[in-house]
Amino acid sequence: MLQLARDAKTAARQEAMLASGVPAAVARRVDRAEASAIAGVPLPAGGLHFPGAGWVHPPALVHALAAHPGIEVRTGVDARALERAPNGEWRVLAGGSVVARAPAVVVAASVDAARFAQTRALPLHAVRGQLTLLPATGASRALAAVVCGAASVAPARRGVHTLGATFVHEFDDLEVHAAEHRANLADLAAMAPALARALDADRLDPATLAGRVAVRCTSPDRLSIVGPVPGEGGLHVNTAHGSRGLIGPPLCAEALAARLEEEPAPVSAGLVAALDPGRFDAHRY
Ligand SMILES: Cc1cc2nc3c(=O)[nH]c(=O)nc-3n(C[C@H](O)[C@H](O)[C@H](O)COP(=O)(O)OP(=O)(O)OC[C@H]3O[C@@H](n4cnc5c(N)ncnc54)[C@H](O)[C@@H]3O)c2cc1C
Repeated sequence: MLQLARDAKTAARQEAMLASGVPAAVARRVDRAEASAIAGVPLPAGGLHFPGAGWVHPPALVHALAAHPGIEVRTGVDARALERAPNGEWRVLAGGSVVARAPAVVVAASVDAARFAQTRALPLHAVRGQLTLLPATGASRALAAVVCGAASVAPARRGVHTLGATFVHEFDDLEVHAAEHRANLADLAAMAPALARALDADRLDPATLAGRVAVRCTSPDRLSIVGPVPGEGGLHVNTAHGSRGLIGPPLCAEALAARLEEEPAPVSAGLVAALDPGRFDAHRY
């Protein structure tokens, strides 16, 4: 995966990150020529190369993670309320009946994590995002790395490149919008003009392009919210993962499981505290 240094400010930020002691096996600086050679297409700038990073097909990742003997997947169940029984047990209610009971509950429901009476005060914000799906061309198939900068674009999977994504804070719907395809294509042209040409981006009609829209959930300080809900023993949340939802949540889940089981945490105590839902408490969230 390549992260381009599109301007002096980004280059300085990347330098500072490397100077903090990141091992070369994780990230290293590459100039324009090397970045272009790694990407397989000419790029206008160098940046950081993350040799071990790549891209995943999210549904495949989710299926792989859920294929565990301790996990039972139940789809189509709309959890409406949480109740704590006098014996301390938590009950999940859907359609007027109890659908699950357990000593501990983790609400991992993105912005809907705040829909329950006990979690209503969580300061969650929804940000709309749209991906553009671009048909691969003979020339675009040369792309051999994920390229990130003003936009992010991945090598073709089954003949389709994923280009993304928009950030829209005020929105009324989750339909695919031609204007957001246009914005993604403009970002691609600014980031990697040769790749945009290889994809015939100028000749594509944004009104007919396929895409995908969803929301990201963010918090006021842009950090995930992971841990116990204040004053609700046994109730936890794991949410507000913003744009990093495929990377952070498995580690957040592991940190939460360690906390529940009173095992050593896989992350520092400082990070556990930084993610704690109680950090917003002083301001009543
Ligand atoms: C356009 C776009 C591009 C993105 N690109 C990237 C990327 O390149 N890399 C990356 O790491 N991240 C990316 N993200 C972010 C990533 O998708 C999210 O951070 C991630 O999905 C968050 O995971 P989550 O499990 O917290 O929430 P979600 O994936 O939103 O899952 C929440 C689940 O809870 C369910 N749910 C909600 N309420 C209830 C209820 N009451 N009862 C039952 N179920 C309920 C929902 O149906 C949903 O299945 C992108 C996001 C968008 C929108």
